[in-house]
Amino acid sequence: MEIKKSELKVLFTEEQIQTRIAELADELNDLYGNDEVIAICVLKGAVMFAVDLVKNLKMPLKMEFIRLSSYGTGTVSTGKVHAVDISLPDLNDKNVLIIEDIIDTGHTAKFLLDFINNNFKTKSTKFCSLLDKKISRVSDIEPDYYGFDIDDKFVVGYGLDYEGYYRNLRYIGYKPNV
Ligand code: 5GP
Ligand code: MG
Repeated sequence: MEIKKSELKVLFTEEQIQTRIAELADELNDLYGNDEVIAICVLKGAVMFAVDLVKNLKMPLKMEFIRLSSYGTGTVSTGKVHAVDISLPDLNDKNVLIIEDIIDTGHTAKFLLDFINNNFKTKSTKFCSLLDKKISRVSDIEPDYYGFDIDDKFVVGYGLDYEGYYRNLRYIGYKPNV
């Protein structure tokens, strides 16, 4: 499959995304109150979501960035997760908030949660994903918070890429089956 920008249909507009992020932030502000949070952005895909989400969070917060990759090229999950850079500070006794773009098979989420659980005894660990593609799930992983459910589509935009492109779109789109 090849994806051209002119073929993209909008799935979520910039306004829908920002409205939903504000709602998620309200829930997280209620959850944590004034407790400190370590927000972990999973690069590259979650970059836009993480930036917009944390701007709406009110508690004392530190941002960390790790880089995992599961999709090689194309649009089909390899199922293999590769830690490109998973250097993290001491997370013992911290409230950890993982910020992801999408949970698809769940392999990436499981890999990361196992890594954190095996290395740290956190105060709490929550997983927040902008998108949840439940239909593709292989691991028994559910996000604690998510923005939107999507069906079996390969989506791009707002951080999500196709062969490295389209991360800079303000909306989330997909190529319809024609
Ligand atoms: P999982 O390990 O859950 O199968 O996949 C998670 C990663 O695959 C996501 O963080 C994301 O980078 C990538 N991914 C999964 N579904 C899509 C999709 O529809 N579009 C894009 N661009 N990336 C996806
Ligand atoms: Mg990702």
